[in-house]
Amino acid sequence: MSADCLFCKIVAGEIPATVVHEGERTLAFRDIGPQASTHVLVVPREHHEDALALATDAPGLLDDLVTAAGEVAKSEGITESGYRLVFNTGPDAGRTVFHAHLHVLGGEQLGLFGR
Ligand code: 5GP
Ligand code: ZN
Repeated sequence: MSADCLFCKIVAGEIPATVVHEGERTLAFRDIGPQASTHVLVVPREHHEDALALATDAPGLLDDLVTAAGEVAKSEGITESGYRLVFNTGPDAGRTVFHAHLHVLGGEQLGLFGR
């Protein structure tokens, strides 16, 4: 756990969140400011700064996030209608939380590059 990391605190149960899926190495919960009818964040339980860090430092964990996102899509009932998976990186992408997280967006027709 990384001190003062919001998502580490959610994983630890110190900050409440609406959890929709629990994996061995992942946790998925609803985004507090949804940008689509379904907006879920899938995070690794262990702290990694971003997707690149996951890919280089934690073999398999990126796969686990995508697999968990697929499970979330299934339980949200959006597997057939479709959904978008997003990793924001850096200020131009509006990144605000520095614990890797995969956005799962769907449940409605999305704009080409976001809502
Ligand atoms: P980023 O822009 O860093 O990719 O996305 C961070 C996301 O975390 C945002 O969509 C924001 O709404 C969400 N978020 C920020 N604080 C909280 C929180 O305390 N709880 C939950 N569930 N989501 C949060
Ligand atoms: Zn963290």
